[in-house]
Amino acid sequence: MSATVNGNGNGNGSVTAPAGVKLPIYMDNHATTQLDPRVLEAMMPYLTTIYGNAASRNHQFGWVAEQAVETAREQIAKLIGASAKEIIFTSGATESDNLAIKGVAEMYRERGNHIITQVTEHKAILDTCKRLEKAGYRVTYLPVKADGLVDLEDLKRAIDDKTILVTIMFANNEIGVVQPVAEIGKICRERNVIFHTDAVQAVGKIPVDVNKMNIDLLSLSGHKLYGPKGVGALYVRRRNPRVQISEQINGGGHERGMRSGTLNVPGIVGLGRACEIAGEEMEAESKRLIALRDKLKHKLEGSLDYIHVNGSMEHRLPGSLNMSFVYVEGESLLMGINDVAVSSGSACTSATLEPSYVLKALGLGDDVAHSSIRFGLGRFNSEAEVDYVADKVIDVVQKLRELSPLYEMVKEGIDISKIEWQAH
Ligand SMILES: *Cc1c(COP(=O)(O)O)cnc(C)c1O
Repeated sequence: MSATVNGNGNGNGSVTAPAGVKLPIYMDNHATTQLDPRVLEAMMPYLTTIYGNAASRNHQFGWVAEQAVETAREQIAKLIGASAKEIIFTSGATESDNLAIKGVAEMYRERGNHIITQVTEHKAILDTCKRLEKAGYRVTYLPVKADGLVDLEDLKRAIDDKTILVTIMFANNEIGVVQPVAEIGKICRERNVIFHTDAVQAVGKIPVDVNKMNIDLLSLSGHKLYGPKGVGALYVRRRNPRVQISEQINGGGHERGMRSGTLNVPGIVGLGRACEIAGEEMEAESKRLIALRDKLKHKLEGSLDYIHVNGSMEHRLPGSLNMSFVYVEGESLLMGINDVAVSSGSACTSATLEPSYVLKALGLGDDVAHSSIRFGLGRFNSEAEVDYVADKVIDVVQKLRELSPLYEMVKEGIDISKIEWQAH
């Protein structure tokens, strides 16, 4: 995804921000979230006076740090229905995903070499799988349906006697679609296959329960739930069945031998507090975000034609809305709303602007993918911000379409799919 933001005050349109709305507006909460001030408060002592190494067993400094880490472990475990001993701290979800997939692949190599994932996964999953393919593993990339959901029959058919791991994300970071994780877990358990889920976008936003959902491994990240960046965790099931992974970072044998390295105590304390707050406030927060998201959608749909939501509306994260604005050039749209931080359906690669592979997997053409916007609402967004963003997008889309010959033709009833364009 490519993001845009430009804090040059009121932008260039006729819609101005009402008093109380500060520009630029952050509406990209799938990319990262603002640190909750309550999380910072919990972290502060561990960034200043309480600086012991949690692995120092011989003195007070170490014990206090270790105690704080164990409290965080419990807070995180509680949010996902796990026990504290099943939480392994990492540097973030990219590392958790790597550790889960490579750790299982290496540990269960004698049992099989087949891994199943799906095409709309985060790059942390896809690139790890590609790496394993080079090392002789076989990977099946399941397609998704037009609504972004994986087909459970496809999954059942893909499992064979060499399958050691299924890794399917809980909720997608681009389109917000929530996969049928409990059903996937059930299928994997019945077939005796380990199930990992990248739950970065789901944890703290919607209910997650590793036991009810038969999840064996689960990745989460601090900065996606109002915690600090650079800290995450991997849940590793300890019983029914006990899952083993081989460590990918050697040295010192921290974290039950699964991930060596001195623990990031302030980060871990922050992640724990962030999970605690999420557990307490999830219900009310998700109601509020659903209302804001639906308001944004209804306002846009009330004033604009030829727009559509990408991905299932029913199986969706509370704060997530990905919409395509057909007959609008994507770059111009983003430029027009440059006082709002959102992401587009274009993936910034080194030189070219590629359409998002997630949107393409839903069947969108390149043009429509480019003219798509991901709105990511979060804890610190207000209703006034949503109103402003909706008005601004409507204004910009209408102006761009006034300049669009394609849109004019469509309005006049010309079937543009039948036009034979003249090449010059
Ligand atoms: C952000 C994200 C990641 C990567 O997490 P980091 O902690 O930033 O490494 C992985 N998967 C998904 C679905 C994400 O949204």
